[in-house]
Amino acid sequence: MIPSAFEYLAPTTLQEAVSLLSTHRDEAMLLAGGHSLLPMMKLRLAAPTYLIDLGRIPDLVYIRESGGRLHIGPMTTHFMIETSDLLRQRLTALSEAAGVIGDVQVRNKGTIGGSMAHADPAADLPAVTQMAEAQFKLLGPKGERMVAAEQFFVDLLTTAVQPDEMLAEIQIPLPPERTGTAYLKVFQKASGFAIVGVAARLTLGADGKTCQAARLGITGVAAKAFRATAVEQALEGKAMDEATIATASEHASDGVEPLSDLHASGEYRLALARVYTKRALLRALTRAQGGTS
Ligand SMILES: Cc1cc2nc3c(=O)[nH]c(=O)nc-3n(C[C@H](O)[C@H](O)[C@H](O)COP(=O)(O)OP(=O)(O)OC[C@H]3O[C@@H](n4cnc5c(N)ncnc54)[C@H](O)[C@@H]3O)c2cc1C
Repeated sequence: MIPSAFEYLAPTTLQEAVSLLSTHRDEAMLLAGGHSLLPMMKLRLAAPTYLIDLGRIPDLVYIRESGGRLHIGPMTTHFMIETSDLLRQRLTALSEAAGVIGDVQVRNKGTIGGSMAHADPAADLPAVTQMAEAQFKLLGPKGERMVAAEQFFVDLLTTAVQPDEMLAEIQIPLPPERTGTAYLKVFQKASGFAIVGVAARLTLGADGKTCQAARLGITGVAAKAFRATAVEQALEGKAMDEATIATASEHASDGVEPLSDLHASGEYRLALARVYTKRALLRALTRAQGGTS
């Protein structure tokens, strides 16, 4: 349970961090909250020669709104997201999801950037970024590029971030008027990770009844968080009531290759995905009707 030897590097600016990363590339790893990386290092599943600590770069911690988007720095902790008034008002599901991650200790140290880059299939926030159609700003030696959430998560523990790049910001378009969002999960009892987690977003038309747009992000079920587009299509243009939502939610598991482990069989995960899709959508509908996001 002792990590292999490494050199600890502590840049104080973003440029310095990117420069260290491009110098050491495959031999280096970034350290954010350490709640996923340090256990992996102790188990020798990760053995970086250089550990680049992002914790001394103050510019990486922020939540702000500008240009019709929410901007979140990668070192922003789960606790900051859970308790942000801005996020609670503008994107309730994100605060809601951050508030049910692990325990207080994990939420105080764990960061949104670390969670995204680690891409654990049972992590909560990836479902929300799928639902919210987030964009990820990646920074490398050649400059920056934006990657959409649907392309960011590539496979189990694998993202679009290249070895000489870092995740520098998460951007989320502000939901339009008459939008409600919600996140619900079934906990894995020991760790709190999601056996199934569903993030839902419903935007109602001017009549306050018809679904103008629906977005669903689901985590815990498959190797990576995914959009349930069949559910979205089954909702859009329809008058929203419980029966329509229940019928559409049956599509949540369409074409999904489920994970199966000692916590839940694949079949059970798929069933939970359908049930929790319905529940999350109903909660999002109530919020959309009540004028909260
Ligand atoms: C007991 C326990 C319970 C947990 N329960 C849950 C849960 O219920 N739900 C949940 O979602 N998560 C849970 N987690 C995981 C937790 O949310 C972690 O905080 C998260 O997965 C990783 O974030 P971190 O800041 O700790 O990143 P780190 O562990 O520091 O890093 C994780 C990975 O991301 C890379 N990385 C970090 N920052 C960047 C960046 N800016 N750019 C590129 N790469 C980067 C690192 O190199 C590393 O590979 C739990 C963890 C523990 C220990």
